[in-house]
Amino acid sequence: MRIVFLGPPGAGKGTQAKLLAETKGWLHLSTGDILRDAITRDTETGRLAQGFMERGQLVPDDVVDRIVAERLDRDDAGSGWILDGYPRNLSQVSALEKILGAAGGNLDAVLFLAVEDEELVRRILGRAGQGGGRADDTENVVRERLRVYREHTEPLVAQYDEAGLLRRIDGARSIPDVSEAVLRAVDPADGGPGA
Ligand code: ADP
Repeated sequence: MRIVFLGPPGAGKGTQAKLLAETKGWLHLSTGDILRDAITRDTETGRLAQGFMERGQLVPDDVVDRIVAERLDRDDAGSGWILDGYPRNLSQVSALEKILGAAGGNLDAVLFLAVEDEELVRRILGRAGQGGGRADDTENVVRERLRVYREHTEPLVAQYDEAGLLRRIDGARSIPDVSEAVLRAVDPADGGPGA
């Protein structure tokens, strides 16, 4: 299957995408992880992305579009994949359509993890307080990431809903509860209403 995880920063996309990928044996492609790795390795892409990420802003589309196109073109993407953190604006939606068109396929589902703002900020700053946070997990940058999400990414929810792909999941629950709902959303035979 070809799945996109959508949701605000702190909604648990990374955690759930990783669990789903492990369960199903699909590729997990996180643009955030790839960009952070590029920064650690001090590559050209990393140097380009770093300032945007530190400010909580989107890295330019051409950079992330190229990362996704290259990764999905590899053999291990064949059995199924999960995109986590991409697409993040309407231009990236178009780029993904081109990539999918070139590969002769379509998206199967867009899983939207819904969580309230206060809970998101609490989670991210809590994570930072425990020493597990990232460089962009400070309060001002978190607020900017949320603002950027509202302005650029949230419109994708309605767009994918109109396309009949959106599956809304309540993300304000425990990790196992959310992951059970995620499994049901991708595969009704796993104990969902269609079982
Ligand atoms: P979160 O969803 O919690 O903000 P991510 O790891 O998905 O965490 O993203 C962290 C940062 O990486 C973003 O704030 C942005 O700067 C950059 N980034 C990740 N994915 C994209 C993308 N698709 N387009 C532009 N920038 C991106």
